[in-house]
Amino acid sequence: MSIKKKLSVFFTLLVLCILLANNTLHYIRSKNRLIEFNKKEITLVTEEIAYEVENSKNSASYMENRMAQELRTASIAIQDSLPADYHDVSNDQLKRLAKKLMISHITLLAPAGDDIIGVKSSDPKEINMSTKEWGYWYTSFRQLLSQQTITTKKGVTLPHFWSGPIEVASSNPNHIDKWGYYYDGSTNYIIDPYFRDRHVLDFEKRFGPTNVMNRFTENLEGVLELTVFNPKNFGKRNQNVYLNGNKYIKIKDQPIWYGTYTYRNTERDKKSIQEVLKTGKSQSYLAEINHKKVLKTLVPIKEKNTPAYVIGVVYDYGLIEKELQQELIKHLLLSLPFIFIVLIISFIFSTSITRPIKHIMEHVNQIAKGNFGKVLNTRRKDELGGLVANINHLSHFLKTYVDDLKKSQEESEYHAYHDFLTGLPNRRYFKEQLNRRLIESKEKSIRHVAVLFMDIDRFKDINDTLGHSKGDQLIQLIANRIKECLPSANSFLTRQGGDEFVILFSDFTPEEVKGITEKIMAYVQQPCYIDNDEVFVSISSGLSFYPEHSTNLDTLITYADVAMYASKRQGGSKVSIYHDSLNKKQAEKVHIETRLRKAIQKGDIDVYYQPKIEAKRNVITGVEALVRWNDAELGFVSPEAFIPIAEEAGLIQYLWEVVMKKACSQVSEWNKVSDEKMTLAVNFSPRQFQDPVVLVNEIKHFLSLHRFDPAWFEMEITESTLLMNAEETIKALHLLKKYGISISIDDFGTGYSSLSYLKKLPIDCLKIDRSFIQDIQEDYSNSEIAQAIISLSQSLKLEVIAEGVEEEYQKAFLMKNGCDHMQGYLFSKPLAAEDFEEAFLNS
Ligand code: C2E
Ligand code: MG
Ligand code: MG
Repeated sequence: MSIKKKLSVFFTLLVLCILLANNTLHYIRSKNRLIEFNKKEITLVTEEIAYEVENSKNSASYMENRMAQELRTASIAIQDSLPADYHDVSNDQLKRLAKKLMISHITLLAPAGDDIIGVKSSDPKEINMSTKEWGYWYTSFRQLLSQQTITTKKGVTLPHFWSGPIEVASSNPNHIDKWGYYYDGSTNYIIDPYFRDRHVLDFEKRFGPTNVMNRFTENLEGVLELTVFNPKNFGKRNQNVYLNGNKYIKIKDQPIWYGTYTYRNTERDKKSIQEVLKTGKSQSYLAEINHKKVLKTLVPIKEKNTPAYVIGVVYDYGLIEKELQQELIKHLLLSLPFIFIVLIISFIFSTSITRPIKHIMEHVNQIAKGNFGKVLNTRRKDELGGLVANINHLSHFLKTYVDDLKKSQEESEYHAYHDFLTGLPNRRYFKEQLNRRLIESKEKSIRHVAVLFMDIDRFKDINDTLGHSKGDQLIQLIANRIKECLPSANSFLTRQGGDEFVILFSDFTPEEVKGITEKIMAYVQQPCYIDNDEVFVSISSGLSFYPEHSTNLDTLITYADVAMYASKRQGGSKVSIYHDSLNKKQAEKVHIETRLRKAIQKGDIDVYYQPKIEAKRNVITGVEALVRWNDAELGFVSPEAFIPIAEEAGLIQYLWEVVMKKACSQVSEWNKVSDEKMTLAVNFSPRQFQDPVVLVNEIKHFLSLHRFDPAWFEMEITESTLLMNAEETIKALHLLKKYGISISIDDFGTGYSSLSYLKKLPIDCLKIDRSFIQDIQEDYSNSEIAQAIISLSQSLKLEVIAEGVEEEYQKAFLMKNGCDHMQGYLFSKPLAAEDFEEAFLNS
């Protein structure tokens, strides 16, 4: 069920319940009110009736007195008309006299033994009627006959006269009579004239309470019956009187004194009357009597002079119910427009709630479907307004969130396939591309696919020199240069990481690819400007071809990499095309590393010494310690071959320790015996400067261990060492310098040292790279660089030494140009300690 329907139903039910409750309450209140009203009415009625009963009793007593007086008057008239002896009176005479006196009958009573009997009468039933059993009546007759005062206190006593109360005639119970009794002693009988029935009843009719009761019953709506109960006799067995052969009930003993008792419920009424008398309070009950639902109320009346009696009021309860029903219907009818109004209001109200909810739902559905960002307009300021605002906010948030998510997804997808620095596709992307091209080449019968592997030469040094930020700029610059050289189609450039680039060519001949590669290399070698720094860069390249070298994707990349390494080994700035022997070199490299590790462990590493000559004096001023490794399996391995491997494998430190240990002890031995002390030069790898402080301590440790004077110790470092981790390295150099060690820049001229920078460094000597010396020709041509370095050292006030001096003319050139210190095969090759001793120290 929709909320709208639910709300309407809810409100309608609510209103119905309220109305129902209201009507029920109203019904109960009305009922109580009616009953209360009824009670009051009944109280009034009973009070009135009680009053009337009392009144009628008073009237009756008055009238009875009057009748008694009338009967006395008649009695005197009868005495006057009749002889003194009743034997002389006939019954007919009495009849006539009665008629004349307008009374019902005349009876003459005379004593007969212990009885007083009717001796003569106009009413035949009275003749011979005994009165002996008549109680106070008989007593009164006796007192009357004996001329005594009547003491019975009943009826009316006048001179010679007594009148009894109105009573059922014992001589004939069908009649109600009022009797008078006269005796003045002049007769032998009591004169008894009496009124019968009509005379008596007429008066009762006129003055008795029945009239009033009838009037109430007729005039008061709903009052069905009024009864004056004789509580003493009601519900009990009839108190019959048996006299003169007749049976009757005395008037005062009759159960109902006045009114009717047609709505009979004797047992219940009897109980109620007893209760009423006991408590002195009214009793009501509902019952169905004579096929009618009635409310019967019994009210106690307690008058001063009369015994208590009970008035019963029978009320038509149907009338109360009818009135209540009418009231209820009236109320319900009155409720109808109210319900209708509530229905309309609830409909409007529920619509006002459900309509925006419907809109909100549609909106939320849209959100659920992923259509975020739409704004739902509302001017409401209530909770729904707040909800709409929140949903709008949520929708907006979700839109931003999803947009961001999409963006970051795209970004992460992009980054998954692209290099962060250059924006070029990465290794992963490259592999997928290569795979695709290989498949394509199979399908489209493309003849050639080539992989070009490029690596910037000595990038690590450059990076260390320039700093990482400039190093990054350099990579971007080189990436752009490579890109510029590539053909727009069928080539695909990626950055593999670090300073490695890989290019995929499809449908180019190997010659074409090689041409493009050379073009790239030449362009890259052009000076690069990064901020104010001029940087020279070269690239080593390796090529592999599909399907010539391999049809396997990974293998093809590995082969291009192997070829690139071959170029590196050849000094860089070269292109190598993969061939099987290269692969062997890689394996060889691994083999060398394993053997070297073993050699270090076994102590198979040796040190050779090459003298440094002061040419002018032709004396050895020092030696350079050069590491030597003659492997049982590999034979002699050049340091140039294994040092990079040792560096890569982290073995350089162990090698250095061997050299330091052997050379320090050896040279200090030699210095002890020789006249001319020699300096000891040891080569240091850039890698050893990764933690310069540790290095300084280690040097100090070895020198002091062998009691080697630092003043005779020389450290040979390359330019790249100087520029790497510059600040820390320079600090270490200053410490070493302070310690007494001298520092030479080895292979000077091949690096990147800027002149102003050199000036600031704590160096002592520049060692001209042997390539520049070997360039010097006999005619001194090609000697410019060597010459320039010599001049530079002079102007910087640094020592200079030439290495790789093989020819006399080279020596001559150097001497001529002021470079007196030399090293080279011309003087001696590096020699084992014994050979060195043999050659130079034993002479
Ligand atoms: P380097 O420090 O410049 O050492 C000089 C190299 O030139 C030595 O090669 C030496 O044998 C060679 N040489 C000397 N005179 C001549 C000559 O007249 N002609 C020619 N063609 N060569 C000459 P070596 O011993 O093979 O060492 C090569 C490089 O290996 C060294 O160059 C140095 O950079 C490195 N190296 C050697 N021993 C060590 C070492 O103990 N530690 C470190 N870190 N590097 C070392
Ligand atoms: Mg050296
Ligand atoms: Mg050198």
